[in-house]
Amino acid sequence: MDLIDSHFGLNGVDAPVGGPLVDPFGRHVSYLRISVTDRCDLRCVYCMAEHMTFLPKREVLSLEELDRVASAFIRRGVRRLRLTGGEPLVRRDVMSLIRHLGRHLDSGALDELTLTTNGTQLARHAAGLAAAGVRRINVSLDTLDPEKFRAITRWGRIEQVLEGITAAKAAGLFVKINTVALRGANEHEIPSMIEWAHGEGHDITLIETMPLGDIDGDRTSQYLPLSQVRASLAEHWRLEESPHRTGGPARYVRVKETGGRLGFITPLTHNFCEACNRVRLTCTGTLFMCLGQEDAADLRAVIRASDDDAVLDRAIDEAISRKPKGHDFIIDRDHNGPALARHMSQTGG
Ligand code: SAM
Ligand code: SF4
Repeated sequence: MDLIDSHFGLNGVDAPVGGPLVDPFGRHVSYLRISVTDRCDLRCVYCMAEHMTFLPKREVLSLEELDRVASAFIRRGVRRLRLTGGEPLVRRDVMSLIRHLGRHLDSGALDELTLTTNGTQLARHAAGLAAAGVRRINVSLDTLDPEKFRAITRWGRIEQVLEGITAAKAAGLFVKINTVALRGANEHEIPSMIEWAHGEGHDITLIETMPLGDIDGDRTSQYLPLSQVRASLAEHWRLEESPHRTGGPARYVRVKETGGRLGFITPLTHNFCEACNRVRLTCTGTLFMCLGQEDAADLRAVIRASDDDAVLDRAIDEAISRKPKGHDFIIDRDHNGPALARHMSQTGG
């Protein structure tokens, strides 16, 4: 443990074990996503409003508190951990949290520690991530056109992201590109994005927009069903079904012509809840048992009230006993507002 990390203490995974986390539908919760901050240096039009009010610091879990909750889940059988946000790499000292969480990889308690990032801060952190045991990361990128990038993110510079991706590759990180399919914005660029990603050796996953949070815009006009995108790609390319799974909701094909892997995440056209193995923790310590439902558990109150991990364990058990069967997102002309008031940046996608 280095000096920066020493303030975390020794919250390992050897405390008494309460057994694996299994929900009422028999699904084993083995994957935790943590949004480490609600802040971001970009304002993607489908994700945030231009003027966002971010949370005051006291409401946000400290790095020590995030580590404590993550370690409790790992003790209960979570094998994969993804850090997200907001933008995880804009949180101050986030690298010390990542380095410290790396101990669970070393002990074998955790199979994977990863993150989803917009890539803007990646150039300076890529080597540190690799050193901490991170092996693959998701980088969100919706276009390769600098002007379009600026328009979609409201002020981002694409060069920063591309430099970040280059640094990640140089550090030996496996990069998956996440691209939100947006009608009228990147619709016609999707084939060239796929060619670019595969040419660089990256997987790429297309994502449908989800109706989360108020965004100062019309969601019906942004929504582009991936069934439609896939059908038009199949007119030019041979898409071969791939058994590849990353434990998430993406379904993959291999594009015969490029040799690369292409994923589809289709929360709206195809429901993937049956195999859901995940829960999500916000930066305020709220545990959402489903991305598409409001029900949640306040773990911040639990950890701030007691240092006893047995109390935290019981709160986690109680929350998992409430994991719902699935979500019911709808986007159509009659349901144009957000299905849920919270933004994706709160739960981290
Ligand atoms: N800032 C990081 C990033 O952009 O990768 C991590 C957080 S971001 C909320 C995680 C993912 O959610 C990104 O790939 C983003 O494109 C996606 N996302 C955000 N809002 C969305 C929405 N309303 N529908 C679908 N995907 C969304
Ligand atoms: Fe920030 Fe990611 Fe949301 Fe874009 S998608 S505004 S980068 S949190």
